[in-house]
Amino acid sequence: MPNSALQKEVAKRRTFAIISHPDAGKTTITEKVLLHGQKLLKAGTVKGKKSGQHAKSDWMEMEKERGISVTTSVMQFPYQNALVNLLDTPGHEDFSEDTYRTLTAVDSCLMVIDGAKGVEDRTIKLMEVTRLRDTPIITFMNKLDRDIRDPLELLDEVERILNIMCAPVTWPIGSGKNFKGVYHLIRDQVIFYKTGQGHRIQEIDVVDGLDNPVLDQRLGEYAQELREQIELVKGASNEFDSELFLAGELTPVYFGTALGNFGVDHMLDGLVEWAPRPLSRETDDGRKIDATTPGFSGFIFKIQANMDPRHRDRVAFMRIVSGQYQQGMKMYQTRLGKEVRIADALTFLAGDREHVEEAFPGDIIGLHNHGTIQIGDTFTSGEQFKFSGIPNFAPELFRRIRLKDPLKQKQLLKGLVQLSEEGAVQVFRPLANNDLIVGAVGVLQFDVVVHRLRSEYNVDAVYENINVATARWVSAESERKLDEFQRKATANLALDGGDNLTYIAPTMVNLNLAIERYPDITFSHTREH
Ligand code: GDP
Repeated sequence: MPNSALQKEVAKRRTFAIISHPDAGKTTITEKVLLHGQKLLKAGTVKGKKSGQHAKSDWMEMEKERGISVTTSVMQFPYQNALVNLLDTPGHEDFSEDTYRTLTAVDSCLMVIDGAKGVEDRTIKLMEVTRLRDTPIITFMNKLDRDIRDPLELLDEVERILNIMCAPVTWPIGSGKNFKGVYHLIRDQVIFYKTGQGHRIQEIDVVDGLDNPVLDQRLGEYAQELREQIELVKGASNEFDSELFLAGELTPVYFGTALGNFGVDHMLDGLVEWAPRPLSRETDDGRKIDATTPGFSGFIFKIQANMDPRHRDRVAFMRIVSGQYQQGMKMYQTRLGKEVRIADALTFLAGDREHVEEAFPGDIIGLHNHGTIQIGDTFTSGEQFKFSGIPNFAPELFRRIRLKDPLKQKQLLKGLVQLSEEGAVQVFRPLANNDLIVGAVGVLQFDVVVHRLRSEYNVDAVYENINVATARWVSAESERKLDEFQRKATANLALDGGDNLTYIAPTMVNLNLAIERYPDITFSHTREH
C-alpha cells in the first residue's frame, strides 16, 4: 500500500476507552455510542448485564459466555468520516490489570462521571494510570435527567481532585425534571433535550445563538438565566485548547444523559475532531515507532481465554502501531525470534467477530494463541525490538495457595505460571521456603484462578491467609550490591512467574525500613513486561 493511502487510513482512526466508577454509566454510553455508529438499530444489546447481581456471578456468567466477553472487548464502528475503536475495560466490581493494560493500547480516554456523585475512587485510580502516558481525556457528566450537583462545583472537583483543567464545551440547562438541553459554547447553539428518545438517534432540535429571541419563547425565564450563567461560566472556566488537551492537561467537558441518549453525539463529535490519531509508541531501545514508520509492528496488551476452554485456545489482543495487517501475512515475534504466519486474525467491527483481511495502526486485532504469545510481546515485519510501557502492577492482595492433592505440585506451578503470563495474577515463590504465593490487584482474581486451575489444569487448590502487605520488584545498578542484598534479605525475597526478583513485605513499615536500609536497591511498584 502506498504511504499516502496508509496515511489516509491512519488519519481516520480514533482509539479510545472509557474510564469510570462502577454504575456511572459506562455500559449505557457504550450502547449509545454504538447506536450512533449506526451499527445497532436499537441500543440495548451490548452486554447481558443483569442488575443487582454480585460481581462474582457476573464473572461466572462471562465465563460461560466467553465469546461474548471477547467480542465486547473491542468495538469498531464508523462515525462521520472516522473509524472509531472503543476498547472495553473490564466492568466487574474489581480492579484488574487488564484494565490498566488496556489503557496502554488507546490514544485517548472518555471519563464518565455521575453528575449526582462527582469524582469517585475508581475514577481517581484510573486517572492515575492515564497520567503515566499523559493520555488526552474527554469528560462526560452523565445522568442529567436526574438532579445533579451544581455543574460549576463538579468542574471544580475534577480540577481539584484529578488535577486537570476543565473546558466545558456544552453547558446544561437545568437537570432532573427541568433538564431542557445544553448550550454548546463553541457552536453557540442551544440543543434541546427530548425525553423518551433513549433507543434511537434523537432528532436534532437546535436554536442558533444565545441571543436569539426564539430562546425566550422556548425557555421563558430560563433564557435570561442561561445567558447570565454562560457569562459566568466563560469567566470562571478555561476555553478549550487543543494543545493542552493533547498534553493531557485539559479536558473538554460535555453534559448529558446516556440513558436518554442525549449529549453522547456531542462528545463523539469532539472525539472525532480533537482526539489524537494513532500515536507512536516507544521501544526498549529508545526509539519511537510512528504509525507511518515503514514496516509492520504491534504489541499484545491483553490475553483472554476463548470460547472453548478445553482447547486452551486464547485470543491475544494486539494493538497495531505501524504498517498494515493483511490476512495471511507473516509476523516476526521478537521475544521468541520466530516468524509466524497469521492466517485468521479477528476484527471487531461493531461487536461481531469477523475475520479481517486488513487492519491499520490504531486498530486492534485478535490473534489465536496456543500458549506461545504473552502479554507485552512485540510483533514486527522482521525488525528486532520490543515496545515498552506495558506494566505489571505490584499486587495489593496476597494469599498462599495450597493443593488438596499434594502430588499435583508440578501441575499447580505450571498453571500458576501460565496464568501469570496471561497477566491474570502474579505468582511468587519465596527463596526461603516452598510456599506458593498468589498476588492480585483485586480480590475477584483469586476466585478466577482457583476456578481456572480446576477447569483448565485439573488441580484443586485452596487459599490460606498469609501475612504479606505488598510486593516490589527489586533491581540494582551493581550486581555486587544486589548479591549482597539477596544474602541479607533472603527471608523476604521471592521470584515471580518470570523469575524476576521481588521483595515481599509483611507490612508497609517493613518495606519502608528496607528501602531506607538498602539505598542502592531500586524497589519498583511496576514492572514492564
Ligand atoms: P456502568 O457500571 O458504568 O457500566 O453503568 P451502567 O451503564 O450499567 O449504568 C448503571 C445504572 O445507571 C443503570 O441502571 C443505568 O440504567 C443507569 N444510567 C446510566 N446512564 C443513566 C442516565 O443518563 N440517567 C439515569 N437516570 N440513569 C442512567
